[in-house]
Amino acid sequence: MKKPKLKILEPEKKVGLVIVMTGEGKGKTTSALGIALRAAGYGLRVCIIEFIKGDMYSGELDGIKKLFPYAEIHLMGKGFCGVKGDKYSYQDHRAKAQEALRLAKKKISSRKIDILVLDEINYAVKLKLVDLPQVLELIENKPLRMHLVLTGRGAHREVIKRAHTVTEMKEIKHAFKSRIEPQKGIDY
Ligand code: ATP
Ligand code: MG
Repeated sequence: MKKPKLKILEPEKKVGLVIVMTGEGKGKTTSALGIALRAAGYGLRVCIIEFIKGDMYSGELDGIKKLFPYAEIHLMGKGFCGVKGDKYSYQDHRAKAQEALRLAKKKISSRKIDILVLDEINYAVKLKLVDLPQVLELIENKPLRMHLVLTGRGAHREVIKRAHTVTEMKEIKHAFKSRIEPQKGIDY
């Protein structure tokens, strides 16, 4: 079958955006993963660093490998912090989040990344695993053309102030609330 030739637009000015996905509804992480999928189509390099989560398997951990070498994912959390069954101390969670931050900086300084996704970093700030000034410093010192995506509920207003695009996922309904258990490929 003959492939239709589709037009590709080139922006006149390439801008490295700061994008925030926040809110209580579903779709923050999957939206960031959607960016990785789209970007891989252009051969752009995407690095995803997962804050907080880390002891639970989610399909993207292997799904992203299928986008190799354009996308990579790093699990840098110790699971949900402060919830029932959490076997780690606040210090453990904080140390891991700080390690994730160091990795983010290393990836930025490698200059090999076009898009950096810091998944759940907004929530990590809320839990004080990462300090707000650390995030603001990342935003302010990022390479001009690198896009930075920050996800997680409860994004700080100072982060929102500095972002170019901010989306708040609003929950209308969630299957979970009808006692439907999380489903593979949809929820994890
Ligand atoms: P997703 O990864 O599906 O895009 P998310 O990143 O917006 O979700 P998180 O706060 O990271 O949301 O939650 C991760 C997990 O919790 C996912 O399995 C998601 O389906 C589920 N989830 C998201 N929002 C809700 C909600 N309001 N109630 C219950 N479960 C939720
Ligand atoms: Mg998420």
